[in-house]
Amino acid sequence: MPDYQQIKAELDGIAIEDNPNMVLRKSRDFYWYSPILKEQLENVTGDLVVSPASEEELIKVLKVAFKHDVPVTARGGGTGNYGQCMPLSGGIVLDMTRMNRIKEIHPGRVITEAGIICAQLDKQLKEHSGQELRFHPSTTGQATLGGFVAGGSGGVGSVTWGGLRDLGNVLRLRIVTLEAEPRVMELTARDLLKVSHAYGTNGIITEVEMPLAPAYDWVDIIVGHDTFMDAVKFSDALASSSGILTKEIAPIAAPVPYDYFNRHKPYLKEGESVSVVMVAPHSLAPFEALVKMHKGEIRFRADEAESLRGLPRAYELGWNHTTLRALKMEPESFTYLQVQYPGPDHVAKVQQMTELFGDEVIGHLEFLRFDGGIQCSGLPLVRYTTPERLEEIIRIHEENGCPIFNPHRYTLEEGGMKQTDELQLAFKKQTDPKGLLNPGKMIAWENPDFDFKAGRNFLFKGLAEVA
Ligand code: FAD
Repeated sequence: MPDYQQIKAELDGIAIEDNPNMVLRKSRDFYWYSPILKEQLENVTGDLVVSPASEEELIKVLKVAFKHDVPVTARGGGTGNYGQCMPLSGGIVLDMTRMNRIKEIHPGRVITEAGIICAQLDKQLKEHSGQELRFHPSTTGQATLGGFVAGGSGGVGSVTWGGLRDLGNVLRLRIVTLEAEPRVMELTARDLLKVSHAYGTNGIITEVEMPLAPAYDWVDIIVGHDTFMDAVKFSDALASSSGILTKEIAPIAAPVPYDYFNRHKPYLKEGESVSVVMVAPHSLAPFEALVKMHKGEIRFRADEAESLRGLPRAYELGWNHTTLRALKMEPESFTYLQVQYPGPDHVAKVQQMTELFGDEVIGHLEFLRFDGGIQCSGLPLVRYTTPERLEEIIRIHEENGCPIFNPHRYTLEEGGMKQTDELQLAFKKQTDPKGLLNPGKMIAWENPDFDFKAGRNFLFKGLAEVA
């Protein structure tokens, strides 16, 4: 057991929290979304929360951690949902939220410290020069930019811009290694994959350079449809309408909207499926025309509502907020999956799965740009019965060409978003020779017999594949 009194003495001058209740709180994320992870990770806690306010302080923390062999698990807003920032081996929880200064804003790009909250960054970008992040997670109000890059995949805006995996959607990362003498490294272009979506196992991100888009006063709209497939077809047509500028397109099946979107309930119709969308003001007229063509009914539009008080933004009905709203109302009933429906026949695949599972797997899709084309990924709600049935539902999806990124696993490889390979592992040997960064999250590091060629589908490709 490391000598934490000594460690605290060596970290004198840096903010530290060691109250066990506070440390426990900062050792958690949204892992409880999964009944399987809830059971596995319930007792996980760190030993100290350390909150550096500058890169200089961070380097001191990493140096002390290396000297005492203490694990270090970075934490941004703690909104990840597979235990990504949970310190499986205890040690230091590295709270990054004090490193939140914006350094430079230019036309089309921003340079900022990694601990800034995404919504706060967007607010300042809009005020400064009418710009915003190309896309943000639906947790923008709590998530940090560094946590998004290290743990997220895409989000609100991905229908236009694609995801974090796409070249050009992150411009540069500055990281610090965990060595006797921590080094600062700058990564760009394909090298970014060494650290993007690597759960902080390959270095601590201190600075992020992101590309920007023009900011609009996006209008939140909910369109009602008779069936889920009507919502899906309308959403597909909207996402494919190159002239209509949207930021969010999410078809969601009944009964979810009426039963669980409490604040919007007065606007909604029981039994209807919906498309939740965000549209640029100058695209409203063509958008309305498309709704008419698809026989949808606009149930809510924020620009015409009498009052928006108490109403969440549209994106807080989509992404994993849909899951959250159902879980809040019926915690024992639901869990969820992350499904990819590869195009160009994504709509047909959604139809097939919808018919196969009926009410057991309730549809929720997010439309996005994927490798240049329009596709949808799914965050369906699953009526949870047993782990065996959940595995079976996963298997049936995969057998039908719909890969699952399993949100019931806490390792990079099993979750399926990040492919580790020899190059990724070699990079970790350079940046974290003792394996102290977020231990337990990269199987390839823990298990020398790990088979890199498991033949799975990964969202973030291995480095060998892009080299
Ligand atoms: P954390 O949860 O604190 O950390 C995430 C991972 O990054 C951890 O492994 C952590 O160790 C690592 N990390 C954090 N900071 C650093 C750093 N500076 N350097 C190195 N590693 C670091 N995800 C999406 O992609 N899109 C969505 O739209 C989305 N919606 C969500 C909705 C809900 C309701 C919930 C619960 C989750 C959602 N997520 C989504 C997942 C999550 O919110 C996002 O990925 C978010 O961006 C994570 O940011 P965070 O600051 O909370 O990171």
